[in-house]
Amino acid sequence: MKRVCVFLCAMFLALLYVVPVTAHAGLEVHFLDVGQGDCTVVLCDGKAMVIDGGPREASGYVYDYIRKTLSLNHIDYVISTHPHTDHVYGLSAVLNAVPADLVLTPVLEWDSKPFEYMAKYARKQGSPMVVPSAGDTFRLGSAEITVLHCWPEAVEYGRANDASIVVRIDYGKTSFIITGDAEDWSEYMMIDSGMKLDADVLRVAHHGSSTASTMEFLRAVSPEYAVISVGKVNDYGHPHRGTLERLNRAGCDILRTDKSGTIVMVSNGERIGIVRS
Ligand SMILES: [Zn+2]
Repeated sequence: MKRVCVFLCAMFLALLYVVPVTAHAGLEVHFLDVGQGDCTVVLCDGKAMVIDGGPREASGYVYDYIRKTLSLNHIDYVISTHPHTDHVYGLSAVLNAVPADLVLTPVLEWDSKPFEYMAKYARKQGSPMVVPSAGDTFRLGSAEITVLHCWPEAVEYGRANDASIVVRIDYGKTSFIITGDAEDWSEYMMIDSGMKLDADVLRVAHHGSSTASTMEFLRAVSPEYAVISVGKVNDYGHPHRGTLERLNRAGCDILRTDKSGTIVMVSNGERIGIVRS
C-alpha cells in the first residue's frame, strides 16, 4: 500500500478524563461489546477508522453505534483484519450505510457470504479494497497508524487467523496495538521484524485463545492494559485460562467486553483514561 499521509491542523483540546464519548476530542478507542467477535472504532481529530465489524448477532448494534452513538457518516479507513465471520459480518452493515475512503484487508476474495457482502458494499460505496504490507504507515488525524503484520500467505497454510492485519496506533506518548486474531506464528514474526512493539494497550488476539499471547510477545509489548473482546457464552472456552495467567504474569490490567460491555479509552497524548467500562 502506498504510504498515505493526511495532514490536519491538530486541535489541541484540553482532554479531561470524564469526557463525553461524543466529544471526539483527542484519541478515542472504542472496543465494542459484540459478543464472540471483534469490533474496534478509533476516532482522532474528526477522522474515523473501524477495525472489524463483529458477528451477525451484533451487526445491528454495530450499525447503531456507528450511525447513531458516534454519528459517523464517513469512515476514513476500514480494516478487515481477516475474513472470518465474527469479524467481517458487521462490516457489510457498516459499509452498506457509510462510505469509507479505503478498506484494508489481507485477502481480496474469500468464499463466504459475509465477506462477499462486505466486498459488494465496498464496491457500491466506491471504497477500494487494498492489501497492506507490514511497515506501511498512515495518519488518522494526528495519530500515526503502523501496520505491524499482514500475512496473506498464511491462508495457504490453513492459518487464516495469522493472515490478520495487526496495527499499532501512536498518539503522542500513548500507544495501542490491535491484533485481530493473529496467533503465535504472527507474534514471532512481529518480534523478528524488529518493529517497535512496546505499547500501553494490547487488544488481546483471538478473544484470549491459547494459540496467541505468547509470553515472548507479551514481554515485547509490555502493556499496561489488556483488552479481551469475547462473548459471555462461547463454544471455544475463550478466554483461555493459560492466556489469562500469562496476562497476569505480564502485569497488565485485564478488561473484558463480556464483563464490562463496551469499553472506551481516551488519550490526551500523555495518559490513557477509561471513560466507560
Ligand atoms: Zn475472531
